[in-house]
Amino acid sequence: MVITVASGKGGTGKTTVSTSLTFAVSSIKSVSHVDLDVEEPDSNIFLKVPIQREEMIWLPLPTVDYSKCTFCGVCQRVCEYNAIFVFKNNKEVKVFGELCRGCGACTAMCPYGAISEIQRFIGVFSYGKRGNISFYEGRLNIGEYVATDAIRWVKKRLSEINTSDITIIDAPPGTSCPVIHSMKDADYIILVTEDTPFGFFDMKLAYKVAKKMDKKMGIIINKALSGYDEIRNFAKEEDIPILMEIPFDRKFAKSYADGITLSAYSDELKNKFLDVFSYIEKEVHNA
Ligand code: SF4
Ligand code: SF4
Repeated sequence: MVITVASGKGGTGKTTVSTSLTFAVSSIKSVSHVDLDVEEPDSNIFLKVPIQREEMIWLPLPTVDYSKCTFCGVCQRVCEYNAIFVFKNNKEVKVFGELCRGCGACTAMCPYGAISEIQRFIGVFSYGKRGNISFYEGRLNIGEYVATDAIRWVKKRLSEINTSDITIIDAPPGTSCPVIHSMKDADYIILVTEDTPFGFFDMKLAYKVAKKMDKKMGIIINKALSGYDEIRNFAKEEDIPILMEIPFDRKFAKSYADGITLSAYSDELKNKFLDVFSYIEKEVHNA
């Protein structure tokens, strides 16, 4: 069972929820936590799993053999990302590594077999285990823009090594390609929002994406306030369960600042996260 924790924007408490859920579930069974927020992974600040292994995340990068190249321009024409340019007059083929997505089209289409591929390292994949928690994290190198490709790489690697029955994914914020890739395999999506008009607006965007993907989902309201009912009304209209409300409380903000996840900080909250998990389990298995 894969549960993806998403939010329309950053800073809503997505990592608070994903790590609290993981921590709570780990008190009763084995669970994998995957941080796919590759541009800013921070789950392990809270889970504190010792990293046992690191692997380089890489993309194929074309390189040209000038003894075979005729400067015909085919590679430039087939590249959808404007990452390879042929300068006929200068007899040069330039590959812009930061734009290249490693799709392999130029290599496959070069009529003279002049292109081969080398590895371009774009980030680090790390993993480790502590108690019942298996932890996996993808981290993009600073300045890289290929988050989707890094997520794809991590997911492929996970399909080889993650054997857990329960996987909780911390998705990137927003609603763009990396988020869609993080939601794709989910059996259930938790949408995290703050209890404000801004939070609500962004959550609705994430909701639309999840709905288009025909996913089961529920809402967790972080820093819940009284007096703002838009999210609850929306949930009622759209028939989405509100799984939990985390009250607005200085104590919780302090535990977050101290790197302590809510389930570790409070048994009461841990039990609430366990209730959320049982609910999701039933929903998924009754599907
Ligand atoms: S397609 Fe091959 S032969 Fe043609 S310009 Fe590109 S690298 Fe050179
Ligand atoms: S591998 Fe794909 S993205 Fe990179 S230069 Fe070739 S065609 Fe363009």
